[in-house]
Amino acid sequence: MGASPAEGPTVTHVFHRQLNTTYPRAVAAQGVTITDADGRTYIDASGGAAVSCLGHGHPDVLAAMHRQIDRMAYAHTSFFTTDVAEELADELVARAPAGMGRAYFVSGGSEAVEAALKMARQYFVEIGQPQRRHFIARRQSYHGNTLGALAVGGNEWRRRQFAPLLIDVTHVSPCYEYRDRRADETPEQYGARLVRELSEAIDRLGGENVIAFVAETVVGATAGALVPVPGYLKGVRELCDRHGILLILDEVMCGMGRTGTLYACEQEGVVPDLVTIAKGLGGGYQPIGAVLAQQRLVEAFERGSGLFQHGHTYIGHPVACAAALAVQRVIQRDGLLEAVRRQGAGLRERLQAAFGAHPHVGDIRGRGLFQALELVRERTSKAPFDPQWKLHARIKREAMAQGLMVYPMGGTIDGQQGDHVLLAPPFIVGDADLDAIVERLSRAVDNALA
Ligand code: PMP
Repeated sequence: MGASPAEGPTVTHVFHRQLNTTYPRAVAAQGVTITDADGRTYIDASGGAAVSCLGHGHPDVLAAMHRQIDRMAYAHTSFFTTDVAEELADELVARAPAGMGRAYFVSGGSEAVEAALKMARQYFVEIGQPQRRHFIARRQSYHGNTLGALAVGGNEWRRRQFAPLLIDVTHVSPCYEYRDRRADETPEQYGARLVRELSEAIDRLGGENVIAFVAETVVGATAGALVPVPGYLKGVRELCDRHGILLILDEVMCGMGRTGTLYACEQEGVVPDLVTIAKGLGGGYQPIGAVLAQQRLVEAFERGSGLFQHGHTYIGHPVACAAALAVQRVIQRDGLLEAVRRQGAGLRERLQAAFGAHPHVGDIRGRGLFQALELVRERTSKAPFDPQWKLHARIKREAMAQGLMVYPMGGTIDGQQGDHVLLAPPFIVGDADLDAIVERLSRAVDNALA
């Protein structure tokens, strides 16, 4: 038996990710806060990991889930479809980038990426181009922890011990303006240089052998809210089209309204062939993810084998679909995309005021309620504050001590990138919450640097 919550976590049989860490026990959550067993309250400025878009305990979502669970909790998709899965797919497709035909439901982000990779691969088998076997993705990206998603992910140290991975992936540079744009380049020229690098990678592999280019529209976990420079993704789209290569945009973290539009790619004027979503789709109420596929891809499957060779037991889970549908309805009814834009601007202003002149904050970046700080030793050299990238862990600890949840991360294999802190609060975050978030974060950063 583990210890009772009141006694605190002395014994655990949970195989935690960090085995030598003692975690506070979360016992309740409401709105933008989570409370632990000792009665301490934390402001959820990270939305967990950009998940809790409506905050915790939203009455409409809970009511929708209750209704669904009372009617029917589960029906296996090899026997039935359900009203809620159909309605959710209608809703997602209606608001998706142009041309999306169907939504394939899964239980989370890694599964969504995994399904998208397999869908892309099988699509080329269906249309008689089975020689396409290569994926191209970017360094400093995260696409999940299952083996396929891990293979496209851009952190070499995450992949290394699991090699050889199952699919063939070439990694190219991410769009990391703060670190990589040269002083003599405009943002547009920098974007064009990245597209040329991708073009060279395609030429080396042979364009007719490449399945897809995979990228997060706005990079989340690994590098902290990297927004693409203007025109870069458009250039990528044109290049992919020239070679018949699919564009898979991973919006697991940045999608579902996080950046102020339902899909982040809307702001780039780019339509992907496949887009993956999760996290904010279920808002933390239920595990759910999806791949949206262009109708032309769906038709290739229909004309071909008629069978997508994939599937999981919990696909289209009715309670998860009910939760996700309720999340979508609340976002529309309460004008929450507009709230993301407004409160995101407010968060950015406060971050600028608190950290704009901070000697160890090199960059403040992001879009909507997806904002990040990058910590450096000094602003001129942009050298990482801590070559061992331990600073972000200290900031997380200090933030928790201040009653604040942030999503910090640090480092890359080449040691060039500094530690950073990502903020992704619920869309319902108020002005007083934003004040408290930035005040607490300032104290946490100063304590971590002391
Ligand atoms: N893609 C992106 C862009 C992500 O940020 C994440 C999760 N951080 C994933 C995929 C994997 O999602 P999950 O953790 O739900 O498997």
